[in-house]
Amino acid sequence: KNLKTYFDIKGGALSKKVGEVKAVDGVSFSVEEGEIVGIVGESGCGKSTTGKSILRLIEPTSGEVYFNGENILALTDEKVRKVRRDMQIIFQDPYASLNPRHKVGKIIGEPMLIHGIGDKQERKKRVEELLEKVGLRKEHANRYPHQFSGGQRQRIGIARALAVHPKLIICDEPVSALDVSVQSQILNLMESLKDEFKLTYVFIAHDLSVVKHISDRVGVMYLGKMVELASSDALYEEPKHPYTKALLSSVPIPDPDLKSERTILKGDVPSPSNPPTGCTFHTRCPNAMDICKTTVPAWQEVEPNHRVACHLFNQNDEKGII
Ligand code: SF4
Ligand code: MG
Repeated sequence: KNLKTYFDIKGGALSKKVGEVKAVDGVSFSVEEGEIVGIVGESGCGKSTTGKSILRLIEPTSGEVYFNGENILALTDEKVRKVRRDMQIIFQDPYASLNPRHKVGKIIGEPMLIHGIGDKQERKKRVEELLEKVGLRKEHANRYPHQFSGGQRQRIGIARALAVHPKLIICDEPVSALDVSVQSQILNLMESLKDEFKLTYVFIAHDLSVVKHISDRVGVMYLGKMVELASSDALYEEPKHPYTKALLSSVPIPDPDLKSERTILKGDVPSPSNPPTGCTFHTRCPNAMDICKTTVPAWQEVEPNHRVACHLFNQNDEKGII
């Protein structure tokens, strides 16, 4: 709820604060138990920072994050550690997140050790079970990360996340670094594990096509803000925000007879340390109006379960076209 994570920009010989990056700037959304909520946007839009802020792996600047009714941001460090057992993360680059000097068995078993789950024998047994659940073999526990392919390493990352019986997993671009053929295998695995272990996912991706099939709802982020959030069907079939429309029109359509109208966005994403005033998308928006330069559009529900932050849909605004 209204989550903000700002980073100081330091400069000069004294490393004084010379500015700040509003990496996450007032993001609000909810995730139901058992749901998969996708978050998409170009790199630098704040989607990873949002995920890490939810877990307090990065300390948010302000806002609230409720998990089972408890505001995690108000908890003491010790209580956060307990909650963290319920909330795990899978990273984009499985190789970077696996200690190369540790055997896979130790890597997967480590979260159990940290949370004091089971004795040595029980942990070993659980590691072997988990390896099989993610499509590897129990003998793999004795190997090192470099002995595995990218897809296998992501399976190891998933097994490690599952080790402590989490309820929520933040998936931070878990397939972006993988070959397309391997991507679908990992996505299928994650879907079946979700059902088997009754998991809930926040699934971060820059690729709209990855999120489409796996998500119940999808949120689109631009420059630290969520600009649209809707059911997967509504978002892909009836996108409302001009940025979502542009993102969708840049996804290639496999049927050559189907000509889509492509919206080519002007310019690059502005720097998050100096974002445009008003609607931060106004410098690139094909529909920009005068009000967009001065006034931040409200985050409002324009149809049941469909939220948009755009003046085109602001009912209180005369120029609204809804
Ligand atoms: Fe475009 Fe204005 Fe809507 Fe922003 S508020 S997306 S600039 S129309
Ligand atoms: Mg990222």
